[in-house]
Amino acid sequence: MRRIYMDANATTPLLPEVFDAMRPFWMEHYGNASSIHQQGQFARAAVDHARDSIARLLHCRTSEIVFTSGGTESDNLALFGTLEHTGAPAHLITTTIEHHAVLHAAESLASRNIEVTFLPCTPQGLIEPATLQAAIRPNTKLVSIMFANNETGVIQPIAELAAIAHAAGALFHTDAVQAAGKLPLDLSPNGPLKDVDLLTLSGHKIYAPKGIGVLFVRRNVRLAPMLHGGTHERQRRAGTENVAAIVGLGKAAELASAWLQTDGPAELTALRDRLEQGILAHVAECGVNGAGAPRVSNTTNLYFDHVEAEALVIALDLKGLAVSGGSACQSGATEPSHVLTAMGLTPARARASIRFSLSRLTTEAEVDEALALVPPAVARLRDLSPTWRKPAALVSV
Ligand code: PLP
Repeated sequence: MRRIYMDANATTPLLPEVFDAMRPFWMEHYGNASSIHQQGQFARAAVDHARDSIARLLHCRTSEIVFTSGGTESDNLALFGTLEHTGAPAHLITTTIEHHAVLHAAESLASRNIEVTFLPCTPQGLIEPATLQAAIRPNTKLVSIMFANNETGVIQPIAELAAIAHAAGALFHTDAVQAAGKLPLDLSPNGPLKDVDLLTLSGHKIYAPKGIGVLFVRRNVRLAPMLHGGTHERQRRAGTENVAAIVGLGKAAELASAWLQTDGPAELTALRDRLEQGILAHVAECGVNGAGAPRVSNTTNLYFDHVEAEALVIALDLKGLAVSGGSACQSGATEPSHVLTAMGLTPARARASIRFSLSRLTTEAEVDEALALVPPAVARLRDLSPTWRKPAALVSV
């Protein structure tokens, strides 16, 4: 069976060009980038080249790039690095719809005498600037709001939110794991994101390997390291550089920069819309979570009332289509997605929601195959549902 992968927000496939760039750094070029001999110098040059490519993707200085082990570490470094060592009781503002890498880090800080406010979102999944403005306090030290949501793809008005934080004298961090490589990001001193002080990026969401990420730290932002050891990454992240993964991330950044200049983003949006419209046209009592809000080009999150998302994910997987539900299995019970419930969905509708996230490799033929699979799979599960009554319009005569 040919498999169709529509779970790119969970992880993207590694691009062949990225693998080819990395391969020599596991075998011939295994030097430690801190060594002064030739092997070391070769590794250092490769790390520098990758840093350059990432700085070009983000329109920032190379000195503002810190390599980490991924999005989770970058988020934790941004929050703990700016807040943990503050003298006076500090205040952190974040949101109810963040990834757990921010949410749980914020909860941990809350247990260490940091005051934390979790901002609510609108039913579309947006954080309104007025909501942030009203939450600012004199001791607000950091505001952390994600760029694009991993479940719904909804894009926040980051430039406006960051400007509010700066006007109040607070730092601004954004988790851009689901935005990088999908949207142009310009962190230059006079660019649209000039008020963003810290930004998280993860390799495996932009066609590079898992276990590598970046924290952008704007010049003059003071950051205490979480890991203590060598002086790597300008003393902001100790540990021998993962040279091969860094090289892969650099290559992926180059490919993303080039892709953003092409018709690729518009074509991907058209594919996503074809999938979304096709499903909406053929399935009753179904809708888009986050409809009407700006969304990244590859993501659609749909609810299918009277269907358990988990059962639908499994049914589609058996037919060869990989998608995901937003719910988490905790202590044996399925918890509805915190993002969808924050948007005001009932727990039942949140548990009936599925995320389709396309990749740059998704084809129109794959979208059409998915369109042939989803409506019958939903219909079969609904036939088994005690709450489902076939709408009159769909009853065949
Ligand atoms: N932030 C967001 C929005 C994500 O989607 C993810 C991964 O799903 C992460 C952070 C964590 O990144 P990583 O898997 O590299 O630790």
